[in-house]
Amino acid sequence: MQPVFRFAPSPNGELHLGHAYSALLNHRLARQAGGRFLLRIEDIDRERCRPEFERGIADDLRFLGLDWDESPRRQSEHFADYAGALDALVHEGLAYPAFMTRGEVKGFAARFEEKEGRPWPRDPDGAPLYPGLDRALDASERERRLAAGEPFAWRLDMNRALGMLEALTFREDGADGGPAGEVRAEPELWGDVVLARRDVPTSYHLSVVVDDALQGVTHVVRGRDLLPSTSVHRVLQALLGLSAPRYRHHDLVLDEAGRKLSKSAGDTSLRQLRAAGLAASDIRRMVGL
Ligand code: GLU
Repeated sequence: MQPVFRFAPSPNGELHLGHAYSALLNHRLARQAGGRFLLRIEDIDRERCRPEFERGIADDLRFLGLDWDESPRRQSEHFADYAGALDALVHEGLAYPAFMTRGEVKGFAARFEEKEGRPWPRDPDGAPLYPGLDRALDASERERRLAAGEPFAWRLDMNRALGMLEALTFREDGADGGPAGEVRAEPELWGDVVLARRDVPTSYHLSVVVDDALQGVTHVVRGRDLLPSTSVHRVLQALLGLSAPRYRHHDLVLDEAGRKLSKSAGDTSLRQLRAAGLAASDIRRMVGL
């Protein structure tokens, strides 16, 4: 089977040195393996994503000397694929309408902590876990709130999902001293993750899993910050009957203060580095490739 790698940025800001490292590494590994290198535009968030950032991504990658196979897959053009996957999970009773907003969840966690004097559990990104209140809602109350048009997100019933599955692992190819080998997935750390947001008919987790499968991706190479998310991806792959790619979570490029670069990280944006007269070879040297 021909290896398939992908670089999957979100066009909600300018690419920075961290993206350059990820794209160059994916491209190099793909070419070394005689495989394909795909570009996927993860633009499900129509509020934050902009066409000029998408154009910037293509310009930056061309500047780096990268070419990609096939025309890029734009997630906003494939909402029907994610809806199909969501329907399957809803049909299995694995998803439920979740009415609480992020702010309400924070408030719930704060009240719990105040009252109980111990922390409410948080996910690997530091957000309080979704309390199971809506999961336990009785059917008539749920119907009433749906009929009243109350906004909601679809969330995965994680406990129920895990009850249906064997323990999951994923193959981590390891890089830069990170974990390597067969890694045990820890989806329970995430609780009831969002499958479809209230404002967007899918979520990062759902669309990434569906697309990696539809595009035949065999190797997911991405930043270490996404390592914990892989546990959620394994659950969704198992529930949806999708095969799992191999993973490699690489080191992040940090700024001088040791912080993760952000999309607003002005002076490390590729557009600005280009404008300052740097060549692609300078960028490669800066990221060590
Ligand atoms: N779109 C995600 C990001 O820009 C990357 C998703 C992935 O590689 O799985 O952070």
